[in-house]
Amino acid sequence: MNYHHRNINGQTLDLPLGKVVCVGRNYVEHAKELNNPVPSEPILFIKPATTLVPYLNPIDSTGSPYPLHYELEIAILIQETLKNATAEEAKAAVGGVGLSLDLTYRCVQSKLKEKGHPWEKAKAFDGSCPASEFVTHPNLDLDSLSLKLEINDELRQSATASEMIVDIVSLLQYASTHFSLVPGDILLTGTPAGVGVLKPGDTLVASLGDLISTNTTVV
Ligand code: ZN
Repeated sequence: MNYHHRNINGQTLDLPLGKVVCVGRNYVEHAKELNNPVPSEPILFIKPATTLVPYLNPIDSTGSPYPLHYELEIAILIQETLKNATAEEAKAAVGGVGLSLDLTYRCVQSKLKEKGHPWEKAKAFDGSCPASEFVTHPNLDLDSLSLKLEINDELRQSATASEMIVDIVSLLQYASTHFSLVPGDILLTGTPAGVGVLKPGDTLVASLGDLISTNTTVV
């Protein structure tokens, strides 16, 4: 199945595919587990649209040159252009909330980090951003969103947006001071503690509170 932005009824949304703006180390416990300092301002990087695949597609680990690591994140779909946005503009630009995996070649990323190089080779490969359908209800309380990831019935990641170092609206504002966010872009809001490697046969069940529950497998 090809990726399109969809609502939770599976209907295609009238938004093009754009870039995926990602945030590094936005939960204190995750920064600690990878022995990273907690940043004083958000660390941003971008996955291109070619990374997007439907969350329901099986994750192919056999074609992968390195071990694949998972990071479950709350995903925000953008429906309005944001440039130097106010908080009100950022809130109004949220067209949907969903879940996404920021798939990572951790061994490659560690080497790039040591050299001070960009992370794209570790995080921007094709298919590295499985994304769920989006809840498009207006007036969602973004700070009360919660995510959970179970792998083979074992809880691996669990957090609420209120635990983020920088909240969702502030992340949108911050990103928009560095580059425009345009309709169809996605913001990934960082991953909580509990990241790890995926193995063939793993079953992943991800949920966004009681708004979304979706699963996939690793082949
Ligand atoms: Zn991430």
